[in-house]
Amino acid sequence: MTFDSAAIRTQFPIFEVPATGGAALHYLDSAATAQMPNPVLEAVRTHDANARGNIKRGVHFMAERATEAYEGARDKVAGFLNASPTEVVFTSGTTAAINLVAHAFGQSLKAGDELVVSELEHHSNMVPWQMLRDRSGIVLKYLPITGEGRLDLEALGATVSDKCKLIAVTHVSNVTGAVTNVSAIVAAAKAVGARVLLDGAQRASHGPVDVAALGVDFYAMSSHKMFGPSGAGVLWGRAELLADMPPFLGGGEMIRSVTKDVITFADPPARFEAGTPPITQVVGMGAAIDWIGTLDHEAVTTHLNRLTERVLNGLADLGGGNGRIKVIGPQGLQERYPVISFEVDGAHPHDICQILDGHGVALRGGHHCAQVFMDAMNLPGTSRVSLGPYSDDGDVDAFFEGLEDAFARLGVQ
Ligand code: PMP
Repeated sequence: MTFDSAAIRTQFPIFEVPATGGAALHYLDSAATAQMPNPVLEAVRTHDANARGNIKRGVHFMAERATEAYEGARDKVAGFLNASPTEVVFTSGTTAAINLVAHAFGQSLKAGDELVVSELEHHSNMVPWQMLRDRSGIVLKYLPITGEGRLDLEALGATVSDKCKLIAVTHVSNVTGAVTNVSAIVAAAKAVGARVLLDGAQRASHGPVDVAALGVDFYAMSSHKMFGPSGAGVLWGRAELLADMPPFLGGGEMIRSVTKDVITFADPPARFEAGTPPITQVVGMGAAIDWIGTLDHEAVTTHLNRLTERVLNGLADLGGGNGRIKVIGPQGLQERYPVISFEVDGAHPHDICQILDGHGVALRGGHHCAQVFMDAMNLPGTSRVSLGPYSDDGDVDAFFEGLEDAFARLGVQ
């Protein structure tokens, strides 16, 4: 397998769609949602055209086909995570996966128990725990960040006490692209008998994740960030933990039996999949995992590192050494993924993004659902470039042309 970004790009029909004013699309927002390649689009269409039925409920041909496709996707996710299919719970996304843990695992916690998140977290991995705190009386502690916007691992000792039951942190930051030092987090948790949840939303598009090697207890991810449809995602949980957790939602297919007075619940993962799940989307997620499996990840990483370096160097040149542009998070290629946030002195991220949109450049600007991080860094928000395997030099060129125009129009000196 060799990597050819032009060949990759032709698999994504979105790039034939004109952007604002008829400009060519330069999609630099893959961290928000990655685009879908033809094989995934086709898998979704084929499923609904040939195998549409409700899963598990029917003995007829279409129900069986749909069930096979849905459970086939579960096997693919299990392979992707190096886990057992019975540990793979389908959800509507990372947010739903984390809420599931907050409710179900959360029921085993009592007032005074402690839970640790970091100041870097996406609201998806913060608000469910804040809500749990507010209804259960647990204590929520925050692992601080360093001045560079990285997790302050030296503060682990002071933050994780022997009352801690769970540490929930991101695997890769959606703001800075920084990769979390998972082994340090796992060691701190193990020392006090706490569990670890990783928010894998930003990591999963970059190839298989070995949850066993990571030594974590829960892992959450979203299909739409890994070239699949929106509306599907995964909670992976260690079998013994899932077995001990009560359901979150009640409804069809999550029970073993129901009488007027007594319910017995199905085993995991069915216990956590009440009602008709997002069948087509899950099938699409399986196809996306197959597609990720066709990539040569080493070659993709080399390509994305080169483009990331171009963005970082270009921002440094444009900043002219006078501090008007500041990259937030890792300044180089070490321990990062291709998500680059920057602040421009005297220009709001929304204005920058709007002007870039006029150039066909899709950028994300704002707080990136990480307001606690922005407060801790004393930032109003950032502009964010995020790359995918279809990104190329033309995208980076268009980004800098648009940025120079933005600077001229916004009077950035
Ligand atoms: N965590 C991180 C790090 C994210 O980047 C996102 C998506 N922006 C989420 C969680 C939430 O994912 P979803 O909206 O797919 O549930």
